[in-house]
Amino acid sequence: MDYRVLLFYKYINFSEPQKFQQDHLRFCEKNDILGRVWISAEGINATVSGTIDNIKKYKSEIKKYPEFADIWFKEDKHDEHAFKKMHIRVKQEIVTASFGEVDLSKTAKRLKPEELNNFYETGKDFIIVDARNDYESVIGKFKNAITPKMDTFRDWPSIVEELEEFKNKTVVTYCTGGIRCEKASALLVEKGFKDVYQMDGGIWNYITQHPDKFWEGSVFVFDERRIVTPNTKEEIKHIGKCYYCGEPTSYYINCHNQDCDLMLLTCDKCKVENDYCCSDECRQAPNRRKIYHG
Ligand SMILES: [Zn+2]
Ligand SMILES: [Zn+2]
Repeated sequence: MDYRVLLFYKYINFSEPQKFQQDHLRFCEKNDILGRVWISAEGINATVSGTIDNIKKYKSEIKKYPEFADIWFKEDKHDEHAFKKMHIRVKQEIVTASFGEVDLSKTAKRLKPEELNNFYETGKDFIIVDARNDYESVIGKFKNAITPKMDTFRDWPSIVEELEEFKNKTVVTYCTGGIRCEKASALLVEKGFKDVYQMDGGIWNYITQHPDKFWEGSVFVFDERRIVTPNTKEEIKHIGKCYYCGEPTSYYINCHNQDCDLMLLTCDKCKVENDYCCSDECRQAPNRRKIYHG
């Protein structure tokens, strides 16, 4: 465990993203930092990996910028790089498939992990809504959470319309590291929802402090680990169901017929038995991906 994976973001007005991009890339190359950094006029969103020493240097480098002096890093142990390359891109928005402008000066209140536990434990009347995509919430969610059928974050405004009946209730939103929720919860506030919270630091912050409590299943992550499984209690370790046999699992494959490529949840046994394909038709298809064992 000599490596660290660092996740952080911040919405700020970034005046010169291009200049930052060049300087930052130079720094990362010199210090063997790999990962994905997105910058735009609205801020920064990054996941990077490196050795313990290099990540330490990286954090001081980021904090050199006055805009980032108070940034919050989510740090995980890892035994190797979590990425193969370094991508630093200047983008329109710092979240993929976002839904445009929201007034971020009126974001929702932040809810600490202990406060969420308290909501559950005292039987408070509240709803909790997953602001992530469908394939993420299928394998993991907070207890009793509403998990909207979202293909991309662009669908959030229509989800907000569906939540209309909860306008006067306490509503908590959450996402992986908190970045999507800043916008998602701000939109709820903008649409007149009365008592809106966002999970402070997202699922990450919660599961690091409280595994085996109110988080059920796994967390989909956007680096080579793909899936993180925080719980040890058997009944809440995996909540996704194998496409073939229905057994609990958290692991996805893409159907190996490249013309199908369907994303399926499958257990280890079934994926082998089914040649990594979703159907007989795909098993016989000509354009099949090679199976790499290992
Ligand atoms: Zn199975
Ligand atoms: Zn298929």
